[in-house]
Amino acid sequence: MCVEIDGETRLCCLIGNPVSHSLSPLMQNLAFKIKGLNIAYIAFPVKREQLADAIKGLKALEFIGANVTIPYKTDVINLLNKVDKMAMSIGAVNTILNSNGELIGYNTDGLAAFKLITEKITNLKETKVLILGAGGVARAISYYLAKEGVELLFVNRTVQRALNLIEDLRKEFGEKSKLKLVKSGALHNIIKNVKLIINATPLGMWPNVDNSPLEEKYLTPDHIVFDTVYNPLETRLIKAAKTIGCPVIEGYKMLVLQGAFSFKIWTGEEPPIKKMERIVYEKLKNR
Ligand code: NAP
Repeated sequence: MCVEIDGETRLCCLIGNPVSHSLSPLMQNLAFKIKGLNIAYIAFPVKREQLADAIKGLKALEFIGANVTIPYKTDVINLLNKVDKMAMSIGAVNTILNSNGELIGYNTDGLAAFKLITEKITNLKETKVLILGAGGVARAISYYLAKEGVELLFVNRTVQRALNLIEDLRKEFGEKSKLKLVKSGALHNIIKNVKLIINATPLGMWPNVDNSPLEEKYLTPDHIVFDTVYNPLETRLIKAAKTIGCPVIEGYKMLVLQGAFSFKIWTGEEPPIKKMERIVYEKLKNR
């Protein structure tokens, strides 16, 4: 699966904790091999107190770059030489490029979600979006949508966290932002006017596969349902949406696309997205 390692092999890695279940080594090593690039990708579980040394190590060992995952997407920002404007606004970096010894941070999570959304919806500006959650993923996605002036409604277990996100988005995008907090008890009032529903909570994730972030009775065939959860491949929410006849965006597609955008940042080459998607799909199907 991996390139044949020799004296010229360059490295790329995932930094996080835990990382053992990550699918990034699988899809990135396949992509490097398909493109004939002599690069190998490894996942490193890094202790918090060693995060700074691990990042310095990327320079010392001339890694081409890295992905960063939970719990370091925010902490890593202060350890880099430069951070892309959108990643800085979001407050999270998931991709690092080593550009001749200068470490530059990017966020490809939000970009991946945004691309998938625009493939399904062309008139975004007239679309109302309901975001369930206000954590890291909700943040990354909502920055890309708010930048386009999309109307966003937020529901979150911890109301203050959603209010903080709304305030940050208002500061960033000012007048053009159309943002609202919805109390979970008021969902039935607003849901029929919403076009896109995004689950950005872990509800429904393995092993708690019977959970759902939204009662099924709220879904109608006019909704488009995007679940960022990718394990299982078909969450309870996605199953319900498909049964009703809603178009869906599955979380594994976002996982692959964020990796594909990272690949492009590191190598400048077009990622073999379909093959990356296939290997991730097969792996998740057999989990
Ligand atoms: P996070 O920063 O920890 O945020 C989690 C969000 O979910 C918060 O809004 C939290 O609400 C809410 N939440 C958690 N447990 C809940 C519960 N039992 N009931 C109601 N709300 C709950 O996590 P994140 O980084 O945003 O990730 C969220 C999910 O996105 C992950 O679990 C993962 O499945 C998915 N994800 C997908 C991709 C992809 O590429 N497809 C990438 C990253 C993550 P509070 O504010 O009240 O705590």
